[in-house]
Amino acid sequence: MTYYGDEAFPALSDEQWARLQAYGSAQEVESGALLSGVGEATHDLILVDSGEAVVVRAATARAAEAVVARFGTGQFAGELGLLTGQATYLSARVSKPGQVHRISPVSFRQLMDEDPDLSDVILRALMARRRHLRAGEAARSIEILGSEMSAGALALRTYAARQQLPHTWVEIDTPAGAALARAVAAAGADLPVVITPTAVLRHATPARLAGHLGLSYQPVAGPLLDLVIVGAGPAGLAAAVYGASEGLQTLLLDAVAAGGQAAASSRIENYLGFTSGISGAELTGRAAVQAQKFGARIASPSQAARLDTTHERLRIMLTDDTTIEARAMVIATGARYRSLPLDRWAEFEGAGIYFRGDRAGGQGLRSGSGRGRRRGELSWPGGAVSRRTRQRRHPDRARQ
Ligand SMILES: Cc1cc2nc3c(=O)[nH]c(=O)nc-3n(C[C@H](O)[C@H](O)[C@H](O)COP(=O)(O)OP(=O)(O)OC[C@H]3O[C@@H](n4cnc5c(N)ncnc54)[C@H](O)[C@@H]3O)c2cc1C
Repeated sequence: MTYYGDEAFPALSDEQWARLQAYGSAQEVESGALLSGVGEATHDLILVDSGEAVVVRAATARAAEAVVARFGTGQFAGELGLLTGQATYLSARVSKPGQVHRISPVSFRQLMDEDPDLSDVILRALMARRRHLRAGEAARSIEILGSEMSAGALALRTYAARQQLPHTWVEIDTPAGAALARAVAAAGADLPVVITPTAVLRHATPARLAGHLGLSYQPVAGPLLDLVIVGAGPAGLAAAVYGASEGLQTLLLDAVAAGGQAAASSRIENYLGFTSGISGAELTGRAAVQAQKFGARIASPSQAARLDTTHERLRIMLTDDTTIEARAMVIATGARYRSLPLDRWAEFEGAGIYFRGDRAGGQGLRSGSGRGRRRGELSWPGGAVSRRTRQRRHPDRARQ
């Protein structure tokens, strides 16, 4: 069992507990009863009035089932997916009979809007839980299998990291990678593969993974969107926080995932209010949660391709031909880096040539570490390998 510490397991006063209960409905539960399963589009916040509930990571090809959290009387079970809309990757069941209150996603949204005191406590707990889930047994729930020399695998890892998904990277060229490939009957041509409790995604891409997890754009019936923001770097995230907190129906889209360039920064020291610095991933991760707390929806990967302003409503067309209508739009697409005018640059980008602008990257270049690096080449990790060599070693990756 993972012990999370106080922030993830806050102690609520009787008065706070009663306020929380008012958003839910009571249910008597027997030992063994399933409170939420894996692969469900949404889940309830569960208040344990009496008895006990456990959160379980299902058995995988490489590991037995594991209990990742235990919730006793006066504690609530729930995960950050309540806010992000991510499908469940863990299950919750009753380990000691008693009574629970279930707060539905709609009532949870209402609670976030109406009770700043409780919403603060719950949000801090959900973020702390996600940090621990990413570092512990729960990270085995999503396994990404591929080669560090594959641009496709790198795109998946970038997406998973930016989305702060609990996940495990498994390099194919290791005994563990080979064993996992055998266990899920994945051939070299299938890579990269993502294994979740409910699916094995072959030729996985961020878009397919997002669709599987419920994180891609999904039209929602209801009033016209007030605001669509394209680009979820610091600027887009700030626009989403202010738009949603003013009560605007806000949708934030990103071609990759929330975070933008800032997510790549290991330490930002000049951001107002963070006297001792903060990593870019943490800064933008917090901003994304803040925006979602106010009701903004975030969808990625969703790349805007065209804007039609000839109608009363703005029409934003995505690269997958989805059209989104809105009253207003903010474009916060940041910088695009110019590449060197070299033949076959595109072939090696993300598969031997990488962009890095932080101190750690600079030190790596100076120290000359990294296999096969050529002078002046931003190459990490593993150095550059020609397409033909890659094709010979790993036929699947030649497509990437
Ligand atoms: C390694 C590194 C370290 C840094 N360190 C610091 C620092 O310490 N201090 C500091 O002040 N600044 C730092 N910066 C710079 C800082 O990160 C940028 O100034 C900041 O991220 C710009 O924010 P932005 O929101 O305008 O754009 P970006 O962060 O570039 O975000 C733009 C977003 O738009 C998305 N996008 C682009 N086109 C589309 C489209 N068509 N459809 C949908 N989405 C799209 C992109 O995927 C991206 O996520 C650093 C940058 C890097 C790379």
